[in-house]
Amino acid sequence: MQTFYESVLQQIDHIAGRIGLDAGITKMLKQPERELTVAIPVVMDDGSLEVFTGYRVQHSSAIGPCKGGIRYHPNVDLDEVRALATLMTFKCAVANVPYGGAKGGVRCDPSKLSKMELQRLTKRYTAMILPIVGPRHDIPAPDVNTNAETMGWIMDAVSMYEGQTVLDIVTGKPIELGGSLGRREATGRGVMLNTLEILKRLKKNPKGARVAIQGFGNVGSVTAELLEEQGCKVVAVSDVSCGLYNPDGLNIKSLIDFVYNAPRPRLLKDYKLGRNDERISNEELLELDVDILIPAALENQITTENVDNIKADVIVEGANGPITKDADEVLAEKKVIVVPDILANSGGVIVSYFEWVQGIQSFFWGIDEVNENLKKIMLKSFSEVWETGEKEKVTLRDAAFILAIRKIAKAVELRGIFP
Ligand code: NAD
Repeated sequence: MQTFYESVLQQIDHIAGRIGLDAGITKMLKQPERELTVAIPVVMDDGSLEVFTGYRVQHSSAIGPCKGGIRYHPNVDLDEVRALATLMTFKCAVANVPYGGAKGGVRCDPSKLSKMELQRLTKRYTAMILPIVGPRHDIPAPDVNTNAETMGWIMDAVSMYEGQTVLDIVTGKPIELGGSLGRREATGRGVMLNTLEILKRLKKNPKGARVAIQGFGNVGSVTAELLEEQGCKVVAVSDVSCGLYNPDGLNIKSLIDFVYNAPRPRLLKDYKLGRNDERISNEELLELDVDILIPAALENQITTENVDNIKADVIVEGANGPITKDADEVLAEKKVIVVPDILANSGGVIVSYFEWVQGIQSFFWGIDEVNENLKKIMLKSFSEVWETGEKEKVTLRDAAFILAIRKIAKAVELRGIFP
């Protein structure tokens, strides 16, 4: 099976060939500008010393300061962070926000760490990457297993070094610490908007459309809630522990209450089943006969191993890289419509941009202003990708990459190669 990074590099080559991109620019796009690997010593609660490995990769600053989340997961490695950083560059270009791409990660299992251990890990990781991050250089945000609280700790660590409170060093912060209204929901809201938009273009009714969502974290749970509000029937959701299925539609409010109304998110395997609910595996969820499938967990979920069993007509990528390049080609042949990650899940970086702007201006917007601006930017990006797809007769993924790569190549050309 292709690795996530191999899929991303192959996609760049594929588009470079198609648009006749300069060979030198292609090389630039296939290699991150800067990569940092750090050792993070943490005094554990029992007094022992553990050393974790962390990364920060800045893929491109051609369009603006680098931007991208921080992931805590046992499988984090340099190639995964490279892949995610590269996608961020393209995502920001598609969304027309003035950022380049970056990503960070720490190889750890946060479910085995106490809150104080996580706080110490986060603050030491921040200190270790501080030489390359900053409000004008590289602005982190949440990703898998990190959240507003983690961002508050990062903001505090940087502020202690600077001797003053530095709001614009991270986005996705708690509202009380200069976060933006609507940021927590922004990625899921963007996925919802993209889902409604693709249904509109395909002349399908969202009311009663059957949806399966893999991953019930920040992205998956908010997407489920908002799509249900729009009249869709969310028939399946899952997390790392299992999936839940109900042909009549799951009770999403009750599920969110169960998972999140606890000091730490609870697992779906412990949820008391409602009428007609049944437990299924994550593999079964992906293969359900639904109208819309939304992978919103991790990369490499749809591969050549299971792509032939996928029955959904439309896939909206809440996660980054959930489909390998080879599987993506099979889906295209089968005429399955895929709304690609760099468009579908860009709501988070768009509202992160709003948060950064609000922090710099120390002037905070109301929720309506945030959501209206998000919708405006999201729909404009969607239209641009859709129209490029029609004009060039390519999939939405290829269209999004064509748009992004052309913008970045133009920026590199206008700046001229230093020195
Ligand atoms: P999260 O940590 O809040 O949630 C992840 C969810 O996936 C959890 O429910 C977890 O149990 C589940 N999960 C983990 N491993 C799984 C597996 N093997 N099978 C099924 N489920 C599994 O993370 P998130 O922020 O919701 O991110 C999810 C995806 O969305 C990632 O690919 C991330 O890069 C992407 N993304 C996140 C944001 C954001 O703003 N948080 C923005 C853009 C893209």
